[in-house]
Amino acid sequence: MTDAEAQLIEKAGRKLGPKAVITDPKEIEPWISDWRGRVHGASPAMLAPASTDEVVAIVRLAAEHRVPLVPQGGNTGMAAGATPPADGSAILLSMRRMNRIRSVSAENRLAIAEAGVILATLHEAAHDVGMRFPLTLGARGSCTIGGLTSTNAGGTQVLKFGTMRALVAGIEAVLPDGSVHNGLSGLKKDNRGYSLDQLLIGAEGTLGLVTAVALRLVPAIAARAVAWIGVDSPAKALELLRFLEARTGSIEGFELVPQDSLDLVLRHVPGTRAPLAGAHKWHALVEATTADPASDVAAELESLLAAAMQQGIIGDAVLAANETQAEAFWKLRDAISEAERAEGQTLAHDISVAVADMPAFITEAAAKVEAAFPGVVASGFGHLGDGNIHFHVRAGSHAAPDWYDAEGKKITRLVDDLVTAAGGSISAEHGIGQLKRAEFARLAQPGRIHALRAIKQALDPLGIMNPGKLVP
Ligand SMILES: Cc1cc2nc3c(=O)[nH]c(=O)nc-3n(C[C@H](O)[C@H](O)[C@H](O)COP(=O)(O)OP(=O)(O)OC[C@H]3O[C@@H](n4cnc5c(N)ncnc54)[C@H](O)[C@@H]3O)c2cc1C
Repeated sequence: MTDAEAQLIEKAGRKLGPKAVITDPKEIEPWISDWRGRVHGASPAMLAPASTDEVVAIVRLAAEHRVPLVPQGGNTGMAAGATPPADGSAILLSMRRMNRIRSVSAENRLAIAEAGVILATLHEAAHDVGMRFPLTLGARGSCTIGGLTSTNAGGTQVLKFGTMRALVAGIEAVLPDGSVHNGLSGLKKDNRGYSLDQLLIGAEGTLGLVTAVALRLVPAIAARAVAWIGVDSPAKALELLRFLEARTGSIEGFELVPQDSLDLVLRHVPGTRAPLAGAHKWHALVEATTADPASDVAAELESLLAAAMQQGIIGDAVLAANETQAEAFWKLRDAISEAERAEGQTLAHDISVAVADMPAFITEAAAKVEAAFPGVVASGFGHLGDGNIHFHVRAGSHAAPDWYDAEGKKITRLVDDLVTAAGGSISAEHGIGQLKRAEFARLAQPGRIHALRAIKQALDPLGIMNPGKLVP
């Protein structure tokens, strides 16, 4: 521990009390590695403020002593953005004690939640007033509103409602100089120049600390219909999506699953079974919802799928008969990463290209990767309708234990080159964090990097906000 860190910890303890300053290594230990357990950090303390005023006090101390802070929410991020550096040169700042829902208003269609509120808790609070926060993802039981905002998270409803960028109506944040930006009024129209709120969304804690967020709500779902559909190719899956979208506004989830991924789930995840009897090379998981209790969304989806079958767009389809079966279909999709982990080493790439280009990209990129690295299995699954898939590459059964670090870097380089050549993004949902920083620096256009560095320097000249993350 440096002298500066020791002084900061001592002053924070005096100002904020023992609940806000944790120095027991055993209590810090669970929070200093990333979710996947691949990146390990160190920190002499974990600060845990319970209010915006306490965050201000901590930021002022950090500036005074030039000690960087690493903000953290639920630590479910996929880019190791919330993991402190391994040399212990920064202090972990947990936002989890800021966990109050300040208000939920069906009339304003807004909720104001503090940064440490867990996503599932917000879902319940919105539901209690007949509303819904229409963003969800596999980590909903542990990820926080501050983390979701700071990574501009997506999830499975982006098709209809967009990412956090579309769902955040305003932000309260403590800036690196200790001033508080209050954008929580939730104004629909506000053209006073640059949007600080939008700048903070996706900033990964590099420009300030999000303390509370105003979030847009929509009416609660009255009914949903979930279908599992067999198709010949990703191109046919996209044709199905466009067919459905042209005929109904109720589609809000559309996920692509290759047979290979389904096989892995059936093999490794207990209690799972294939929804369709025959074999299909690809599958689509479709969710349609309605907020209108008088509308029969299941009957509508069923008749649309029958028409799609008649036109030769799909091979087969089954509608979930009840909520339990609907959840079982979603589990087949949500458990793919878990099944891959059980199978062996897997490299994950969260990428996007233009929606119309995605079917060809999946097929061609998989063929190129498999040809360049014999023995690996490459495939894509996920949010086809957003032009975002998880392009995963699995090691062959005889891969060396260090395959991930040795061969993995070369494979990722090839995938990132293919994505960039296709005009896409090497990070569709998960951010840059530490894990993608080098590839971001290698592939981003110079103008983008220049602007990022200039913004960072202007707002955080002392470099105390999550250094070593995002900005190359
Ligand atoms: C099973 C699973 C499924 C997932 N599915 C998806 C998915 O479908 N779509 C998707 O987009 N992501 C997904 N994720 C990734 C992850 O859930 C999101 O990135 C989420 O937004 C992270 O929230 P968190 O609270 O855990 O943030 P953390 O992991 O703690 O932090 C993430 C980043 O935000 C910064 N940060 C956190 N809180 C604050 C704050 N208050 N102020 C400033 N900076 C802050 C951190 O420094 C870090 O850079 C998934 C993760 C898991 C484990």
